[in-house]
Parts: sequence; C-alpha cells; structure tokens
Amino acid sequence: MSYDQNNIFAKILRGEIPCDKVFENDYVLAFRDIDPKAKMHILIIPKGAYTDIVDFGANGNSQEIHEFYKAAAQIAQENGLTENGFRSIANTGKWGGQEVPHYHLHLLGGEAIGPLVSK
Ligand code: 5GP
Repeated sequence: MSYDQNNIFAKILRGEIPCDKVFENDYVLAFRDIDPKAKMHILIIPKGAYTDIVDFGANGNSQEIHEFYKAAAQIAQENGLTENGFRSIANTGKWGGQEVPHYHLHLLGGEAIGPLVSK
C-alpha cells in the first residue's frame, strides 16, 4: 500500500487538523483518540510516513523505531497506565480493521479492558 499524504493523521502532523496532544518530540506524536474506546485512549504515531506496523518495521530506520517504543513507554508511564496495566494494539490492514493508513499504536487503559477480540 502506498502512503496517502491526505490521511487524517498526516493532516494532524502537518497541523491542518487539531489534536489533543499528550506527547511530541522530533520522531513521535501522541494524542487522545477522538472517539475513545476506553477511559484512556491514546494514539501514538511516528512522524515518518509509514502506512502500518509492517511498513514501519521493514522501512523505518533504527532511530525512528527506537524513539517510537521509547516514547510509548514514557507515555504509558506518564499517563498512569503502567500501575494496573493497559492494552496496546496496532490494527493492520483490512482484516485488522485499520481505518487510518498511517501507522499508529493504540494505548487503551484507565479501566479493565475486555477480551482481546469479540466474536
Ligand atoms: P484504526 O481503526 O485505524 O486502528 O484507528 C483509528 C483511530 O483513529 C480510531 O480509534 C478513531 O477514533 C481515531 N481517529 C479518527 N479520526 C481522528 C481524528 O481526526 N482525531 C483523532 N484524535 N482521532 C481520530
């Protein structure tokens, strides 16, 4: 899948659409999900143009990947998610239910999160 420069997270990164920011550095932006699926629902995105976890893992450079997961740990800790636990999810592609084609990690917490998948 080629990267769509007009996806909603690309627009957020360019500052064309506002977001409720929780973290930012040269490599990573994190903000609250507009339609939270848990009491706390944070989205973490790399600033580079990667469509999904496969693209990021295959084509991201080692500093981007290191900074991404370092930021994820910091964000989880700073937002009180580590004490009782939380879920991190990266939906990927059609069967994974990915809606926005810019790689993002969901952090869901603030309460007990239900089963991993519902059938
Ligand atoms: P996906 O289904 O791609 O894994 O998740 C996309 C997430 O982005 C959804 O949870 C959705 O609520 C969130 N989202 C979609 N548009 C916006 C937006 O404009 N701002 C924010 N903050 N979140 C968005």
